[in-house]
Amino acid sequence: MEKIMKCEMCGKQHSVDIIKEKTLTYIKDEPVEYEETVYYCCNCDEDEAYYVPSEVMNQNLMKARNAYRKMKGLMTSDEIVTLRKKYNLSQVELSKILDFGEATISRYESKSIQDETHDNILRIVSENPIELLKLLDKNKNQFEEYNYNLIRNHIVDVIEEHDNALIKRRNLENYYAKYSEPTIENGYTLLNIDKLEQVVNFVAFNFSVLNKVLLMKLLWYSDVMSYKEKNVSITGLVYEHKDMGALPLGHSALMELSGIDVRENYSNDFDYPTYTVYPKECDFSLLSEKEKNIILKVCKKFRNYSGKQIAKYMHEETAYIKTEDREIIPFSYANDVRDF
Ligand SMILES: [Zn+2]
Repeated sequence: MEKIMKCEMCGKQHSVDIIKEKTLTYIKDEPVEYEETVYYCCNCDEDEAYYVPSEVMNQNLMKARNAYRKMKGLMTSDEIVTLRKKYNLSQVELSKILDFGEATISRYESKSIQDETHDNILRIVSENPIELLKLLDKNKNQFEEYNYNLIRNHIVDVIEEHDNALIKRRNLENYYAKYSEPTIENGYTLLNIDKLEQVVNFVAFNFSVLNKVLLMKLLWYSDVMSYKEKNVSITGLVYEHKDMGALPLGHSALMELSGIDVRENYSNDFDYPTYTVYPKECDFSLLSEKEKNIILKVCKKFRNYSGKQIAKYMHEETAYIKTEDREIIPFSYANDVRDF
């Protein structure tokens, strides 16, 4: 990427080439590969024309350390920030609750790499807010009463949310208890709810008005297209033959998941509410590039379809014609799905 800027190499204003390249470095005596950003002065003829501005040097360092953390299975600095923000805590407050020493969290979020003991504690409180509450109570004397109560109330709220989210996941999981092995019915993929939420949000980001009927068909097409290409589906959902086409088991529970933003609409056209899915901020770390491309292709194909139109289109698939009402649609029909 080229950018016109003041070049630190020759001091002149001109186009500087910004290069990202895989680099090997050593952290704690271990080799770590990460993506380094380097600037290149296109005005100089010498080999010495590469340089790294100081703020970029810090970013490179952070990247290298996060690559090391990932390699070691430790939480990254971003994950620690996310954890702290979830509980609405300052760096000092979180340090005090965990009894780490006041500056510790600040260091983990900026430069130092946590040891395994601290990493374990961070991971436990990240996954389980009750453990954080216990630690807060244990270290209560570190806080003023007023502040302690504020923090405690917030953690209690997070616990409630966390419980609700778990119940909703269980509701969906219950439908899939029977499908705990990879089979032709789930496309040789076990249901992964985190990934499913990412798929739904990825579709929502790439679709302007996404109603429930459309979403369900887009999920089916993404899964069968993936199966057709790679012999495995993406989400692990199991689909039933219904009037409106393929419908995943537990579709109502799916729409309730806390990682998905679904809103009810009431209009004069229907005497029942319709559901619209909105994109929710999330990372797509569980989706491979190939999977993203498949989903994008499906979204592109059906961009201008209404729920009714896509249902009609699906009715003409062999997978639909050859199955009966309420029968599971096996992925063996994926090869017959019309290409687009
Ligand atoms: Zn220059």
